[in-house]
Amino acid sequence: MPHDAVTGRVRLVGAGPGAADLLTVRALRAIEGAQALLYDALVPAEVLALAPAACLKIQTGKRAGRTSMKQETINKLMLRLARRGREVVRLKGGDPSIFGRVGEEREFLEANGVEVEVVPGVTAASAAAAQFGFPLTHRGEARRLLVSTATIAGGAFAEAGWAAAADPETTLALYMGRDQVQSIADQLIRRGRPASTPAIAVENAGHPDARGMPGTLGDLAAALDAARPTGPVILLIGEVTARAKIAAAADAVSPRRRASL
Ligand code: SAH
Repeated sequence: MPHDAVTGRVRLVGAGPGAADLLTVRALRAIEGAQALLYDALVPAEVLALAPAACLKIQTGKRAGRTSMKQETINKLMLRLARRGREVVRLKGGDPSIFGRVGEEREFLEANGVEVEVVPGVTAASAAAAQFGFPLTHRGEARRLLVSTATIAGGAFAEAGWAAAADPETTLALYMGRDQVQSIADQLIRRGRPASTPAIAVENAGHPDARGMPGTLGDLAAALDAARPTGPVILLIGEVTARAKIAAAADAVSPRRRASL
């Protein structure tokens, strides 16, 4: 076979924030047609259950400090399965293009002659905003949504680059930022964002048991310490979050879903 021939295909699919009815129809079809499913820790059982019984299901990531499969191992596994002609689905929480290593996986697979298709998903920030009743942008209030994480490669806190997040018209959506809340708040306050800026931390966004922890830039770290979340947490900072409706969150779950709770 010539070296550049395309062998097999892998779909990098966004599973959304963790409720099966927030999957896109395209994602659902990909899961239903999968012969091999490699999934991350944030993908819930209810979504995995949509795959055929005969589908090979491999968990690639574990939460709470337990060891995850190395990226190199995941890449090789996807490649091997694709070359065997399997319908391979790589399922990731939220949107695969947001902190989902989709760039690295695509490059590796394409370099090895495997066709890649990305299926977008509902990212945690969108799920949190919808469920708690506030917009991410708002005319005259927030004209920029900044999607960021607090750390740089290697896990250290990113000291630089917070100027845009300090702008009063920015909504900051912070992923994987739970342990750095205070450092981020200090950075933004130092750059002139008022400590009174509204903020909210949302645990398990998109799930029926999601929890919204409202606060301000100045006290969000303390609010999180007191609440001790155990699920994934997204932090949203900006004026728009003052519109969050904590009590209404349960109503934001789709009626069909609520009936099954
Ligand atoms: N691709 C994912 C993000 C993966 S990074 C997406 O688009 O949503 C993992 C981080 O995402 C978590 O540390 C947390 O900050 C956030 N996250 C993912 N799912 C979440 C959920 N259901 N609720 C709250 N935060 C979530």
